[in-house]
Amino acid sequence: MEPSVLVIDDSPGARRHILDGLKASGLFQMYHEADSVVEGFKIALNEPVDIILCDLDMPGMDGFKFLSMIKTRKELQDIPVILVTGVKDQDTKIRGLERGASDYLTKPFDPGELIARVKVQLKIKSLQDSLKKSNMALMELSNTDPLTRLSNRRFLMKTLEKELQRCERSQKGLALIMVDVDHFKRINDNYGHQQGDVVLKTLADQMKGCLRDYDMAARFGGEEFALVLPETAIDEAVHVANRLRVAVSELRFPGEYHDIRLTISLGVATYPHNKVRTVDDLIREADRALYNAKEKGRNRVETILG
Ligand code: GH3
Ligand code: MG
Ligand code: MG
Repeated sequence: MEPSVLVIDDSPGARRHILDGLKASGLFQMYHEADSVVEGFKIALNEPVDIILCDLDMPGMDGFKFLSMIKTRKELQDIPVILVTGVKDQDTKIRGLERGASDYLTKPFDPGELIARVKVQLKIKSLQDSLKKSNMALMELSNTDPLTRLSNRRFLMKTLEKELQRCERSQKGLALIMVDVDHFKRINDNYGHQQGDVVLKTLADQMKGCLRDYDMAARFGGEEFALVLPETAIDEAVHVANRLRVAVSELRFPGEYHDIRLTISLGVATYPHNKVRTVDDLIREADRALYNAKEKGRNRVETILG
């Protein structure tokens, strides 16, 4: 998308001068203008703006005020602001830069210098944007299991810590369901490891489908999964677990894999509980319940004891 620019200046002549210079550069597709800080702030909030040129000396609210206003809004903090000032004194310029301006231009300015300074800021902004994007992609990658696209164990542990702390404050419950596929080794043995992977992926999708938006499904390891259900009491969690258990038993695969039948065993633990103080306790108790489900014949849900 071509970038857009916002020019804030109380003088129509000055705005025209800046806009004419910018238009000649062909750098932008959208041009916004405002004759006051308040008007400019409104536009910045409502329109996508990539760079702002703001006059320093305006009646009422000035360029410094504008800088402090955009600092208060997270969505505006990364937009570069070039202060345009008639003031030649160094202290004012330094104050502007210290308060968050990316650069300044002294009036009267040469249109070539205006364009050059704007280009530098656009370049920095675009580098920052792509850095932010790749950081987010990396973060996502480091929290995700590559096969199932569910959260990985690392992210599960972080989430459980956070949720447990939240529970302490809100006094609401937290449920953890540990899930293990029954006799999964047989799937690999009978249909091959690759089909085993397909089965795990299908299971992961099924789990996500059974959960609310703010629940979380994670791959705990191998053919074992963990479901985190905030603000959920034990009865409700058991209900979810059983719904998932039935849905998995009804899963069918196409073609030569039509005779694959799957079941899962599930263990449910909740916080608060007299045996659960930490995340490790919660996992241990859900794991014990899961072990019980296996012992009692598989394809069933068991809960924390006592
Ligand atoms: P149980 O009912 O007692 O849980 O039996 P099980 O066969 O499911 O349990 P076991 O722990 O003996 O075997 C788990 C199997 O899961 C063995 C392992 O090769 C397989 N497995 C673990 N991770 C993957 C994976 O990423 N892909 C595939 N295809 N198989 C996996
Ligand atoms: Mg298993
Ligand atoms: Mg296992």
